[in-house]
Amino acid sequence: MNRCLSCHEPILIEISWSDLFTPRRQSSLCSECQDSLQIIRHDSICTICSRPLKEQTFACNDCLVWSEDPVYHDVLHQNRSLYVYNESLKELIKRFKYDRDYAIASCFSDRLTDALKIMQPYDLLVPIPIHEAKKMERTFNQTEALLEKANLPYQTFLSRMDNPGVSQAKKGKQERHSTLNPFFTLETFQHKTIILIDDLYTTGTTIRHAAYTLKQAGAGKVSSITIGR
Ligand SMILES: [Zn+2]
Ligand SMILES: [Zn+2]
Repeated sequence: MNRCLSCHEPILIEISWSDLFTPRRQSSLCSECQDSLQIIRHDSICTICSRPLKEQTFACNDCLVWSEDPVYHDVLHQNRSLYVYNESLKELIKRFKYDRDYAIASCFSDRLTDALKIMQPYDLLVPIPIHEAKKMERTFNQTEALLEKANLPYQTFLSRMDNPGVSQAKKGKQERHSTLNPFFTLETFQHKTIILIDDLYTTGTTIRHAAYTLKQAGAGKVSSITIGR
């Protein structure tokens, strides 16, 4: 029997007539856990970073600030995020990353694949790398796990050099904007369209640092997809 990866209750499937004609995707979450995740709908969001907005305007305040940044203003074409970073997603991501529950990556496979279909055409999928020390401790890079579980081919063309002593989450918002770019690449991209993959979009700094590095190495359009926003 298939069990929910979040609450471990059995997943009950009601067979309907449509299952005879279109094969149903196997779900990793029970309907209750699935419903506790809040999908970001594309009717009222920032067109750049996909932050949910009360009313539709072109860009949220953060993206307007980014649009005036002398270095990072035009590095990111757009970010799409799948879910609102609510308590349920927070808990799921905590177990995925910090409790090292690799299987949880598959909860996001269907929506990640769908989001990529919408963002076609692209040339490369590049996961945001985590620091080596964190990878040793966690045993896997969560962004690579997301792509592996979804059977999406990817390239580890970005590398990271940073001081593992201070994690991004512990810094204030202002401080994060001024953080030095930790990414580098040894590749050249010849106008390739690239989609970055990360678990969360918080201030947008990490994604823009990565996008900047790829653009400096010749990339054309750089967009991103994150699980949470
Ligand atoms: Zn469940
Ligand atoms: Zn925005």
